[in-house]
Amino acid sequence: MSVEADARHISADPRILKTTLIQDQFHIMALINENYLKLKAGYLFPEIGRRVSAFCQANPDAKVIRLGIGDVTEPLPPAIIEAMHKAVDEMGSRDTFRGYGPEQGYDFLRNAIAENDYKSRGCEIAADEIFVSDGSKCDTGNILDIFGLNNRVAVQDPVYPVYVDTNVMVGRTGAANDAGRYEGLTYLPCTAENEFNPDLPKEKVDMIYLCYPNNPTGAVASRETLTKWVDYARSEGAIILFDAAYEAFITDPEIPHSIYEIPGADEVAIEFRSFSKNAGFTGTRCAFTVVPKKVVGTTADGQKQAIHPLWNRRHTTKFNGVSYIIQRGAEAVYSPAGKEQTASLIKFYLENASILRNGLESVGFEVYGGVNAPYIWLKTPNGMPSWDFFDQLLNKAHLVGTPGSGFGASGEGYFRLSAFNSRANVEEAVVRIKTLFGRLIA
Ligand code: PLP
Repeated sequence: MSVEADARHISADPRILKTTLIQDQFHIMALINENYLKLKAGYLFPEIGRRVSAFCQANPDAKVIRLGIGDVTEPLPPAIIEAMHKAVDEMGSRDTFRGYGPEQGYDFLRNAIAENDYKSRGCEIAADEIFVSDGSKCDTGNILDIFGLNNRVAVQDPVYPVYVDTNVMVGRTGAANDAGRYEGLTYLPCTAENEFNPDLPKEKVDMIYLCYPNNPTGAVASRETLTKWVDYARSEGAIILFDAAYEAFITDPEIPHSIYEIPGADEVAIEFRSFSKNAGFTGTRCAFTVVPKKVVGTTADGQKQAIHPLWNRRHTTKFNGVSYIIQRGAEAVYSPAGKEQTASLIKFYLENASILRNGLESVGFEVYGGVNAPYIWLKTPNGMPSWDFFDQLLNKAHLVGTPGSGFGASGEGYFRLSAFNSRANVEEAVVRIKTLFGRLIA
């Protein structure tokens, strides 16, 4: 047997392979990014999927209602469909065909966003500070490319898991402890006690993820709360990563829709927005990220460096733009008909949220969210662990929700229900909840 063949033979045992590589310098396999091995096995939704399919296999006749994942259920509004059909026809003619577009997005969409989402609210955001993309999930992860690994990152807890996992992937953390918290991240607990709005971090942090309206708690941030964060970022030289994916669900006129409604935020904040939840683009894919030109970071030797050109470079190098057809659909969200139709979609989901809230409250649950957000965040009865509550709801009421502990240690004892569903399913879910818990909660 040749030396190389011998090494491949040894490689059947990964521990021996590692030793072999280090000791003998046989590069018979590519090295991996070992940060991925730090990720907690069984990401929340696959684990839910596993338990639900096991239940369905054992109970093939059960009519399971899924109020778990935050995917929309209603079709795209007609104004959007019409705009996309028109764009498809343009693609079929030599005169109007489009190939590669600008990576940052077509001007027609960037201008519509600047005008409707920002100028109309008094925010001075220029069209060239808006980067159109295929999703806020990707953007909140990709943004890490342009930041130094030594930055201290703060996240709300519970948290949209993408912020944490992408920081683990790039190597900004150590291992996770038993509660699932990674060494090197600063967790900001959000509980009923602080009305799901965390205190400022005790240690200095450089990057802060804020999500409002919040997934999973459904909490919103007042002008005062956001001002507190902007002031912190300005005094500490930190950058806020503001995820406003659920902005359209804000019903309270006092609540800001954009962090740029706070004076000075355009010097310290990057904002993520998406067409997924307001216009039903979860499958269609279109979102945008705002990087104001005034936002600066520093180099290791203390030189100030604007973030905008770095993100522009990253975006144009690693991304080739959202399809013309989809961007025309997104533009139609801002047409008079599009505005009316998306507003009625939001109204529909918020009515679902209200039905769920009222049903839960009527049997004694402590319920949060669901007023300015599509998520209901409830306290489990008698402090029951979140996964036990999940199993009880699945097994006894055939309902699927999301265990709060899956979003972080501070989510233990809480549970998320989503308002993204048909009216019939929501009403049926409430009947089952009332039947199951009507007697259980004192
Ligand atoms: N940000 C938050 C807080 C979300 O909950 C989600 C989706 O559930 C996203 C971003 C993803 O948005 P997109 O569909 O644009 O990738």
